[in-house]
Amino acid sequence: MKKITSNIYMKNGLWGTGILSTNVYFLTDTKLTIVDTGYKGRVSQICRDIKRLGYSLSDVENIILTHYHVDHTGNLLKLKQLTGANIIAHMDDAPYIEGRLPHPCPKALRQLKFMEHFWNPDPVEVDVTFKDGDILPVLGGIKIIHTPGHTPGSISIHIRQEDALITGDLLANTFKLSLPSREFTVDITQEIQSIQKIADMEFNIVCFGHGVPLMRGAHKKIKKYYLKLKKTLPNSLSGDNT
Ligand SMILES: [Zn+2]
Ligand SMILES: [Zn+2]
Repeated sequence: MKKITSNIYMKNGLWGTGILSTNVYFLTDTKLTIVDTGYKGRVSQICRDIKRLGYSLSDVENIILTHYHVDHTGNLLKLKQLTGANIIAHMDDAPYIEGRLPHPCPKALRQLKFMEHFWNPDPVEVDVTFKDGDILPVLGGIKIIHTPGHTPGSISIHIRQEDALITGDLLANTFKLSLPSREFTVDITQEIQSIQKIADMEFNIVCFGHGVPLMRGAHKKIKKYYLKLKKTLPNSLSGDNT
């Protein structure tokens, strides 16, 4: 487990930092909040980490999901059963998490037999749905930023007290800053608008669903990445009509 700030801890992906690996975050307050839950099969590791941080399972108050993909919601059902935590997600991704809408699975993955185990979500009821700008009373108030594109209800979480942003799969930093897989991203135009939205914010640290956090001056690095990205896009994608 990596300490990001005095109140944010990161459980590295199970299989290193590659695309098949997803980070889980712990926000430590009087109670514990977990952000994302990784691929299936990690419940015992997550429970060990909860105890290592000095909390019991019943101290887990919230589980926030950055989006519905199975590499972020894989352990959700078991964690809900063990902790009784509130499951929190954006209203546009809740129908997928609850199994009311099917998960669109890219053709290429459907052909990979070994992915079937992972691509088999357990529906879980969402207790609290959020929209852009909502604040959760954790660590002095954490703000939900709606950053759609990768999925309709993808969110980033601004933890102002810690000067940090958790972006889910809006961007990845496995080897370098990059866009999420096109195969899994429903609207690339919206995705880039969402990157612009966070590029205009101020934060020192940024944490990703996949890869290593940027620990200093992160908003400048995201801004630089966005401006570079914008230059490489055709006008139809950048939204620049001039
Ligand atoms: Zn994703
Ligand atoms: Zn992911």
